[in-house]
Amino acid sequence: MATAHLLHPSSLLPTSKSKSPSPHHHHLRRPHPAITCTTTPPITSPPLPPFPPPLPAAKFSAKYVPFTSISTATPTSESYSLDEVIYRSSDGGLLDVHHDMDALRQFDGRYWRTLFDSRIGTTRWPYGSGVWSKKEWVLPEIDAADIVSAFEGNSNLFWAERFGKKFLQMNDLWVKHCGISHTGSFKDLGMTVLVSQVNRLRKMNRPLVGVGCASTGDTSAALSAYCAAAGIPSIVFLPANKISMAQLVQPIANGAFVLSIDTDFDGCMRLIRQITTELPIYLANSLNSLRLEGQKTAAIEILQQFDWEVPDWVIVPGGNLGNIYAFYKGFKMCQELGLVDRIPRLVCAQARNANPLYRYYRSGWKEFTPMKAETTFASAIQIGDPVSIDRAVYALQKSNGIVEEATEEELMDAMALADSTGMFVCPHTGVALSALIKLRGSGTIRPTDRTVVVSTAHGLKFTQAKVDYHSGRIPEMECRHGNRPVSVKAEFGSVMDELKKFLSEKR
Ligand SMILES: *Cc1c(COP(=O)(O)O)cnc(C)c1O
Repeated sequence: MATAHLLHPSSLLPTSKSKSPSPHHHHLRRPHPAITCTTTPPITSPPLPPFPPPLPAAKFSAKYVPFTSISTATPTSESYSLDEVIYRSSDGGLLDVHHDMDALRQFDGRYWRTLFDSRIGTTRWPYGSGVWSKKEWVLPEIDAADIVSAFEGNSNLFWAERFGKKFLQMNDLWVKHCGISHTGSFKDLGMTVLVSQVNRLRKMNRPLVGVGCASTGDTSAALSAYCAAAGIPSIVFLPANKISMAQLVQPIANGAFVLSIDTDFDGCMRLIRQITTELPIYLANSLNSLRLEGQKTAAIEILQQFDWEVPDWVIVPGGNLGNIYAFYKGFKMCQELGLVDRIPRLVCAQARNANPLYRYYRSGWKEFTPMKAETTFASAIQIGDPVSIDRAVYALQKSNGIVEEATEEELMDAMALADSTGMFVCPHTGVALSALIKLRGSGTIRPTDRTVVVSTAHGLKFTQAKVDYHSGRIPEMECRHGNRPVSVKAEFGSVMDELKKFLSEKR
């Protein structure tokens, strides 16, 4: 008992505020506020500085610029208003939302930290959302009345104490549960931004008959929910038989027009891109850089949850590869605007059955070859030709990043181990946890490194995969951490016998 308490990071907090930070300051870690508030006595905090009144939102602005103007720092005059319907630059490349950083820089890092912290849990529309609490950095010019939000973000940063200690000798491992959200995945963070902007465009009488996407499941779930909330038609292209039942039923229930197409995700993506050039349907795939503006707030939120201390590693499962760049962008903006002084090293984790980025990385970034992705339990990342490949490479190179991969057995075992310590994670989180296990095994990630694993969807969307695993029904997989229910007759003696057997096995 006492030892468990001693190991709790809150017991390592300095008792006196006058103590200067020691070289081991990073050991004096404050856990997540949700943990401290019940376990530590109230600490009188120093008075906050007088709160600076925010500038009128109109002073901040953002526009689309070619992604290459950022990645290669080539100056360009090419830019587009966010009110234009455009997905590609003039040379066919990706676009990026570029904020007027000089305007944002009129306020120092302390200002932004205080502003963002002041909005946690607020009832003031729209700032209670984890995305819109950073509105000035996301879509500065949109009217609050046009925003379509479901209180997304503010997701739990879970101290994975038992998983870390039991399996990895780590004491500072955290899981960012982005899937604990309105539709059960991090896609909500981006979709609130995209659908809000479409809502604005429709109010400006732009001829947009609806919003469409190709999806491996979670994008269509988020799109259809936010569109339904705003009364905007949604159209989703899904690969037949390649997504979970829960993911399929979400857009159906939300009233989307659902096309189940006999191809894979990459096939659906090609079709929707052709269709949206012919019809006034707004394209909601992450080719669309608006979504990444919302997704990047998860990175800012992680820093905020650590009281603006920077973790050493952040591990993100990647498929179409927008999210890994969104995390980079969120961290980088915090550094550039003085909220923190460095950024974490990023790890992108892929399923071996869909690992084009991993192969590219292993070739020393020499040769990128799209592949045909094979079936994986991590179905949301079964993508062989990722749209955001250039964004991912940039994010990894700029963050001294690493790419790892996981076999089906590795990712399912990792998921089961995480669940056995009280989580209930999706197979994609299993991919990220497998990457962590490998990087701990090689010593790349050290026992004391503060590490965040990004959990991308809610485990309840993937119950079939878990049922298959625990019943040992997966071909060529040992399912070594399976937990099978014991069938027993409905009589006292039989139940007692089983319990005695169980208790003696447990010592
Ligand atoms: C979309 C998704 C991913 C992959 O994100 P990308 O931006 O496509 O790399 C990972 N996990 C889940 C659960 C997802 O829905």
